[in-house]
Amino acid sequence: MDIRNVVVIGSGCAGHTAALYTARAKLSPLVIEGHEPGGQLSLTTLVENFPGFPEGIQGPELIANMRLQAERFGAEYQLAHVSAVDLSTRPFTVHAGKETVQTQTLIIASGASARWLGLPNEQALIGHGVSSCATCDGFFFSGKEIAVIGGGDSAMEEALFLTRFANKVTLIHRRPEFRASKIMLERAQKHDKIHFLTSTIVEDVYEPSIKEVTGLKLRHVDTGKTSDFPTSAMFLGIGHIPNAKIFEGQLDTDADGYLKTKDFVFTKVPGVYACGDVQDRRYRQAITAAGSGCMAALEVEKFLEDQGQL
Ligand code: NAP
Repeated sequence: MDIRNVVVIGSGCAGHTAALYTARAKLSPLVIEGHEPGGQLSLTTLVENFPGFPEGIQGPELIANMRLQAERFGAEYQLAHVSAVDLSTRPFTVHAGKETVQTQTLIIASGASARWLGLPNEQALIGHGVSSCATCDGFFFSGKEIAVIGGGDSAMEEALFLTRFANKVTLIHRRPEFRASKIMLERAQKHDKIHFLTSTIVEDVYEPSIKEVTGLKLRHVDTGKTSDFPTSAMFLGIGHIPNAKIFEGQLDTDADGYLKTKDFVFTKVPGVYACGDVQDRRYRQAITAAGSGCMAALEVEKFLEDQGQL
């Protein structure tokens, strides 16, 4: 079996940037795209805070351009999902789909995925009124009433964005206090289309038999009272889960499952680096993910050089 210089797991901002840099260093990177190719940028619309685009750029276009740029220098892409890795000996082993790949170094850029509530009917209604991406699905609920779940910045941002389409947005949060930044919370509170239901938990979503969201079953935290709440859609803004499960037991994670890194991108295994949202719970920006992808790539180059493998 051929041994690769470097395999990159994930094809969001961090993964593409790591691929670009390692490709330009003539390391012929293999990028395993993962179950959400393009990562979170592929689920957004206009990105206005990525430097270099004075008028902004659509997220899917930005991520497609990053990939083209990496491919131009020889990065290879494989549409597969990594199911297991063995980091106990070098070369490392990566199982992706039916294939097994061996590599001298590994860059983990597997990102983070939207968190779901885990309601009985939730999965059956994803794509039919249950969504974690306001920018992807908001348009389908023009003129309707929408519920947004969560009390952080993501929920505020989703609620504000959805006012473009909805007649009314109800933000439902499990506590009376909000985790969101003051400015975002105030913006949402001031908006006349946004209403708040606090200390309220969603117990289920109706109605899977007609493949359409018709309402929510709610429970008030203090009184325990349950009620039905009619709505055409439920958007979740309750945070993300890092895609790091397959590294459990081999790399260190924090209490929420984010990969622990030292000096930005070093994991505890020499030759294995982590970048982007799988290890960054603080900044979570496209530009910071790209920056850490670059760092991981430069460390790979240095590591292979130090090992006399370049
Ligand atoms: P977050 O700050 O962790 O907030 C998640 C929210 O979801 C919390 O209010 C939490 O409730 C709620 N939640 C979590 N699990 C829940 C469950 N099972 N049931 C009901 N509610 C649940 O996540 P985030 O809003 O995605 O933000 C993450 C980071 O990105 C933050 O640093 C944020 O500032 C940043 N961000 C910034 C912007 C912006 O500035 N434009 C936009 C988006 C995100 P509790 O409060 O009760 O725990």
